[in-house]
Amino acid sequence: MLNDRKLQVVIVINYKLIFREKDMFFRKGSVGYPYWLPSFAVLASLISLPPPVRGAEAMQFTATRVWPSTLYTRLTFESSTLPHYRYFMLASPRRLVIDIDDFGLSPVLHKLSQQVRSTDPFISKIRVAKFDTKTLRIVVDLKQPIRADIFNLKPVANFQHRLVVDLYPKLKGDNDPLSLFLANTPSVHSPFKPSTPSAQPAPFIVMIDPGHGGEDPGAHGLHNTLEKNVVLQIAQRLKKLIDKQPGIAAVMTRSDGHFVPLAMRVAKAQQQKATIFVSIHADAVANRQARGASVFTLSTRGATSAAARFLANSQNQSDLIGGVSRSGDSYLDSTLLELIQHQTLHDSAILGSAVLKQLHKINPLHKSRVERAGFAVLKAPNIPSILVETAFISHPEEERKLRTARYQQQVAEAILVGIQRYKAKHDEP
Ligand SMILES: [Zn+2]
Repeated sequence: MLNDRKLQVVIVINYKLIFREKDMFFRKGSVGYPYWLPSFAVLASLISLPPPVRGAEAMQFTATRVWPSTLYTRLTFESSTLPHYRYFMLASPRRLVIDIDDFGLSPVLHKLSQQVRSTDPFISKIRVAKFDTKTLRIVVDLKQPIRADIFNLKPVANFQHRLVVDLYPKLKGDNDPLSLFLANTPSVHSPFKPSTPSAQPAPFIVMIDPGHGGEDPGAHGLHNTLEKNVVLQIAQRLKKLIDKQPGIAAVMTRSDGHFVPLAMRVAKAQQQKATIFVSIHADAVANRQARGASVFTLSTRGATSAAARFLANSQNQSDLIGGVSRSGDSYLDSTLLELIQHQTLHDSAILGSAVLKQLHKINPLHKSRVERAGFAVLKAPNIPSILVETAFISHPEEERKLRTARYQQQVAEAILVGIQRYKAKHDEP
């Protein structure tokens, strides 16, 4: 015999199952659907349950963003409190359902579907409604089978709590975003016109890597200048300068506001057969007196100073932000042996010194020698790689300079001249 309490539980469970399985909240018009089931469940639950207790106002999402890219689409839901979520996939029609506890509807959610481009490879539509009094339900209608990667990001800079939904294409037996990228990218498309297969020297290709991007703003200054924006601007200036030079061309790991996982940046450099890799960043520390540019190469035995180690950690957290740290690490780990190639490290040091020397002409240096740290983006085993901290965004005067076209251009020119000096040595017989 069921006592009252058990009966209530059974009815509530039934009610939830019916709604969840049929996703009927949004499909009231489905042909052949047994309408009496949910109405009975609703009626039964109304009869047997005490009236709902009015609690605090439901929490709300304050901003939504859709970041489409060729590789994946990222949805971001921002809120002042940490959202607790569950998700599952449903077939015919194919859709992803995300339930969020204790969240209510808000104006930004109504515009969400309009933010999706008709050309988005994964999403056809997004619907949002209250599933029950406590639960907000987001239904993403899908165009193709996907793999969803859903996670929370902590508040950073101007961003509040974020619920991030990454949609990747689902390929048979392949769950690694890095292999996905490699599989989906056509073979090397060199920026050079195909030349006669004679004894032409290999083209000199600079892979420029603007740090951070998308949901990862990098460091920020007192006046809310974001590292991801100024380093992209400097990188674009550098690319323009390089592309004007004969015998040298530039490609970028990211050319817009999207975040690209760190391992993928290295993979892109490999794919493009880059001659050198130049990552561009802006530094930040708690001490607002710290200023000046610095240049890093990879250290095999870990960071050479506590400050460098701290930096290495904060840069590598980008991978966690991208949600792909495991795949990235396995790729990088497997190359660690090859990494200890003296030639690459030796060349990286020469490139680093050449760039540092030029940077010294426009700004006092933070460290007068090339430093070494374990930055993940410097780990291409066969590509000399440097990471340039262009200035301290945490220093008020340098933050101001980083925003100016003049300083951005000066930095880009200094890096260009450094690269040319290195190339001259590289080209020597
Ligand atoms: Zn950075």
